[in-house]
Amino acid sequence: MEIQIRRAEATQLKKKPADESKLGFGDILSDHMFLMDYESGKGWQNPRIEPYHQISIDPAAMGIHYGQEIFEGLKAYRGTDGHILLFRAEENFKRMNRSAQRLCMPDVDIDLVMEGLKKLILLDQDWVPGLRGTSLYVRPTVLATEPHLGVRPSKTYLFFIIIGPVGAYFKEGLSPVKIYVEDVYVRAAVGGVGDAKTAGNYAASLLAAEKAKEKGFTQVLWLDAAERKYIEEVGTMNIFFAIDDELITAPLDGSILPGITRDSVIQIVRDWGIKMSERSLSIDDVIAAAENGRLKEAFGTGTAAVISPVGKITYKGKDHVVAGGNMGDLSQRLYDEIVGLQYGEKADTHGWVQRID
Ligand SMILES: *Cc1c(COP(=O)(O)O)cnc(C)c1O
Repeated sequence: MEIQIRRAEATQLKKKPADESKLGFGDILSDHMFLMDYESGKGWQNPRIEPYHQISIDPAAMGIHYGQEIFEGLKAYRGTDGHILLFRAEENFKRMNRSAQRLCMPDVDIDLVMEGLKKLILLDQDWVPGLRGTSLYVRPTVLATEPHLGVRPSKTYLFFIIIGPVGAYFKEGLSPVKIYVEDVYVRAAVGGVGDAKTAGNYAASLLAAEKAKEKGFTQVLWLDAAERKYIEEVGTMNIFFAIDDELITAPLDGSILPGITRDSVIQIVRDWGIKMSERSLSIDDVIAAAENGRLKEAFGTGTAAVISPVGKITYKGKDHVVAGGNMGDLSQRLYDEIVGLQYGEKADTHGWVQRID
């Protein structure tokens, strides 16, 4: 399928942010977007790049009412040599197709959307910021559009990709976050949609996150839905604990999101010869390890923040300082390695980095 390109007129072009050191997250979007339409029986059609614009949706569109919506989040980086780099981008579209399957939505042709993404970024390449720590955030999305007020899978969908420059995800930058162990609300249960990147999971997480923020915490640590006992994720990141000489993260048992940063961390620490376990870990074991000095460090992982060190964990009203409230050595080493790869500075032994210009 040929991707049609309609460029924005000079008068439609937006003003680019003047100061890259002040970029936030998620407010600024570039001049163009990629779109295509799906119709049952015909498949995906009309892949195109157009000036960024509002989309019009029927008020009865099924995605609005019944939550058939999936998305991805990835980044393009301005490498140290000036070229534009993608990090494991195909993995995001593979995951999008797994999310699609869970929500009875059509999958996409990965080669086609990768081509669309690259063409979009090249067209808007002046929007890729150059300052270290900044990047171009990429948000692919699929939404059910058929107007019908009955519950069943939609017969039509819209796929789009929007992009925009971002700075650091957390206001604190790399400084350690304070997390609140949530033992009332849950994010997802095994058998549900916790392992799909779908809108409802985030709506379900907001109340706990807002309450934690009111109490001065940055993020919520989620426990399993059945027993409120085992560690799942932190906010919208996967989480790792270094206890003694073992690095531990929750297994992919269906309720957690299979993070690509999570997978990168697992592969890298195994390369480094560090003992890496994907296994269930109870909050009681974490707290006991924190109390007797065996918890060396803890960190969240995700595309937005890469590595987000945990400085304090609060469980049942008691605070536990982690790594002296600082960024641990392993967190720092992993951050340097992954960011070094993303900006094209470190040797890419896994074939994760792709230059697009
Ligand atoms: C996106 C996401 C992650 C992190 O995934 P990455 O591929 O590493 O960005 C982790 N948990 C949740 C709930 C997420 O939505």
